[in-house]
Amino acid sequence: MRNFGFQYKKKDAFCNFCSRTKNPHPDFNEPIVVKKIKFNNKALFICINCHFDFLERADGNEDVFNNLIAEKYNLINLLQKANIFKNFDYEKYKL
Ligand SMILES: [Zn+2]
Repeated sequence: MRNFGFQYKKKDAFCNFCSRTKNPHPDFNEPIVVKKIKFNNKALFICINCHFDFLERADGNEDVFNNLIAEKYNLINLLQKANIFKNFDYEKYKL
């Protein structure tokens, strides 16, 4: 299996794209599996779910994948600036 550089059982794991901190699978009570990525010289973490979701949508194309990451990250930044996520239930809406 290809090693994507994911980190398992990282205590302070957090996905910058869906804001999850825990593995969403009901059988696993553990931190979410994340991978460190660089975007605009910032270190971000992406969880395994978001990563494969983007990869699937990009059809394996790295440029499209990077564009999807950029789009989603910019959108999240915008919404955070507008304070929409203040009392947001991330788990409920699975953003
Ligand atoms: Zn995620």
